[in-house]
Amino acid sequence: MAADFSHVAANVARVRERIARAAERAGRRAGDVTLVAVSKVFPAAAIRAAYEAGVRHFGENRVQEWESKCGELDGLDATWHLVGHLQSNKARRAAKLFHYVDSVDSLPLARRLDVAAAELARTLRVLIEVKLDPEPAKSGADPESLEWLAGSVLTLPHLDLQGLMAIPPFLDDPEQVRPYFRRLRGLRDDVARRLGRPLPVLSMGMTQDFEAAIKEGATEVRVGTAIFGARG
Ligand SMILES: *Cc1c(COP(=O)(O)O)cnc(C)c1O
Repeated sequence: MAADFSHVAANVARVRERIARAAERAGRRAGDVTLVAVSKVFPAAAIRAAYEAGVRHFGENRVQEWESKCGELDGLDATWHLVGHLQSNKARRAAKLFHYVDSVDSLPLARRLDVAAAELARTLRVLIEVKLDPEPAKSGADPESLEWLAGSVLTLPHLDLQGLMAIPPFLDDPEQVRPYFRRLRGLRDDVARRLGRPLPVLSMGMTQDFEAAIKEGATEVRVGTAIFGARG
């Protein structure tokens, strides 16, 4: 039996409401915060339900999983983001299947994406993922090398660097995560000023903490569980 995704529309409405309230409390406009629905693990039918509820940005974290689902969603007018770690050897497939790669964390990967985008005669929008969590296993570029990496990515003609993304450490209390969000915004402000280029996008905040992220300036929040349910 096909799974039932009739709860998704109500979840989307609730998340939008929470985004609007958080934006208002922060003196910002709800329209300045893009909702990216992270649909990993969930089937195409769930994505379609969110699309019908008005969602136009979706995030997936694996190239292969998205390859297996996207055929069923052909023709949906949505923006597809890769939000998970990308290995260089999958750069070509990613450039073909996604509009945005939100997880660029090295120059070799950026170069591969640039070459792939050139072959496809398109421009790929990218974010640099910054490693705010000192855990060695976590992915992302070191804050110390961020200015160098951003400057290098800006020279690649088929990549359009729009801003920064981060996944802070998982903490139970969203208030404890706020300093990490503030740090990402500070890094963005700094690098944009030093490079003389606006970097308008700050992708930060997930189900657990997106309201805190909006208070700290998030322009994109990546929400999975609150829209599609627990990933089991
Ligand atoms: C899964 C995932 C999310 C969404 O997480 P939730 O806690 O389910 O909202 C956001 N960003 C990335 C990079 C993810 O992999």
